[in-house]
Amino acid sequence: MSAGVETVFDAGVDPGLIERSLGTSTFGSMWLDIPRPDYPPLTGSVTGDLVVVGGGYAGLWTALHAAQRNPDRRIILIEANRIGWAASGRNGGFVDASLTHGAENGKTRWPKEIETLDAMGIENLDGMQADIEQLGLDAEWQRTGMLSVATEPHQVQWLADAAALGEGRLLDLQEVRDEVRSPTYLAGLLNTETTAIVHPAKLAFELARACQEAGVHIYEHAEAKRLDSGGAALRIDTGEAIITCRQAVLATNVFGSLLRRNRLHTVPVYDYVLATEPLTDAQLDSIGWRGRQGIGDCANQFHYYRLTMDNRIVWGGYDAVYHFGRKVNAAYEDRPSTYRRLAAHFFITFPQLEDVNFSHRWAGAIDTNTRFCAHWGLARDGRVAYVNGFTGLGVGAARFAADVCLDLLEGKPTPRTELEMVRKRPLPFPPEPLASVGIQATRWSLDRADHSAGRRNLFLRTLDAAGLGFDS
Ligand SMILES: Cc1cc2nc3c(=O)[nH]c(=O)nc-3n(C[C@H](O)[C@H](O)[C@H](O)COP(=O)(O)OP(=O)(O)OC[C@H]3O[C@@H](n4cnc5c(N)ncnc54)[C@H](O)[C@@H]3O)c2cc1C
Repeated sequence: MSAGVETVFDAGVDPGLIERSLGTSTFGSMWLDIPRPDYPPLTGSVTGDLVVVGGGYAGLWTALHAAQRNPDRRIILIEANRIGWAASGRNGGFVDASLTHGAENGKTRWPKEIETLDAMGIENLDGMQADIEQLGLDAEWQRTGMLSVATEPHQVQWLADAAALGEGRLLDLQEVRDEVRSPTYLAGLLNTETTAIVHPAKLAFELARACQEAGVHIYEHAEAKRLDSGGAALRIDTGEAIITCRQAVLATNVFGSLLRRNRLHTVPVYDYVLATEPLTDAQLDSIGWRGRQGIGDCANQFHYYRLTMDNRIVWGGYDAVYHFGRKVNAAYEDRPSTYRRLAAHFFITFPQLEDVNFSHRWAGAIDTNTRFCAHWGLARDGRVAYVNGFTGLGVGAARFAADVCLDLLEGKPTPRTELEMVRKRPLPFPPEPLASVGIQATRWSLDRADHSAGRRNLFLRTLDAAGLGFDS
């Protein structure tokens, strides 16, 4: 890997173990490997008051909350593929209160409103829990909290600093290993308030059910190919039907935006995940983890991992891969070198689980912008709202984003729409080949920093000073 000091994850792992553990894995999201409902295609032209484009969390929360705000509105949701098939059905299922991709990013960018943003983030997380309970959504919601772990000596101070700022309780080496037994852990930061875990695909499917019960008309295999705003009404063309409507919300995440102005604002970055077979009681006993917290280590290139209801470990992150040309392409998803690296890091973290195999391997594209958290806007005389750029933390933030979109369309200022974070758009990425050169240089520098006790080189410090950068 990179020159510099070796990290704990550079230790050698028996190649035979890695091959065996991945040998019988199925390619595809474990979360989507369950029965799911079908929604009809859109074959004839229709009219509506509000059309939501995109059937991931952002679109589903928008449609649901729109129906709750005004039950008389005719709301249509169209999805190009299947409900929840993309990022919303492939993610780690960490529901974090942060709306700003973590405290540090939020504090640096919006120092004056970070307290408000944090309070709104907690309100959103509590609101999501309340929605799930009131609507009876079976999304395997568990408010487990989050355990951040230091695996390198310099990271211990980072956690101590975060604890001093009230971001959690610092655990020393013994305390963190009492929670979860890994020889890689040097310290931990436990926050029991700000994170829940869910079954990502069930959340999407259950939101779709709630939408339908609230009167939303859902169509699958209906891709909006054109948005025409020339007349009094908006016209959305799917190739097979025209939808005429008063307002629209574009919740299309990493996929090509219907608005030209948004095309340079995000890039797809591929994130990779493994899931183990269900652990036996003895295997689970060997690692402890009775609190079932979501866990993340805290290098620039980090792993995130969690337990499922049937005691699998979902293990993802580290490599975040950008491909020249900004394309979303299924061919990028099966990347053997990355799956092997993830497996090796898993066995370094939990050597006591050497007899465990991986049942699934998959990847998804992350909608990354230059500020690492969502941005919004209105287009077409205020009739179209959009949100993009959740980067790697959109499971909770999508619900907040949906409310922002609806507030924007209502046209009256609200505490959400008054936020600087909502009013200001990030800088776009440059066109190719500059985007590729800049992103690869950033990733290389981040890897160097992880191998140099966290020290950031001049390139990263310059990006930091300019408020730019790159993250998964
Ligand atoms: C591997 C991975 C792990 C992640 N882990 C986490 C995590 O643990 N916690 C977290 O907070 N975040 C995580 N994320 C990010 C999170 O999953 C996303 O931010 C979130 O799902 C975004 O929801 P969305 O509705 O915006 O996007 P999506 O789920 O991508 O949905 C967008 C939908 O729009 C549809 N669409 C696009 N264009 C059109 C069109 N023209 N017409 C009709 N439909 C269209 C697409 O088909 C798609 O279904 C992860 C992401 C990945 C890929």
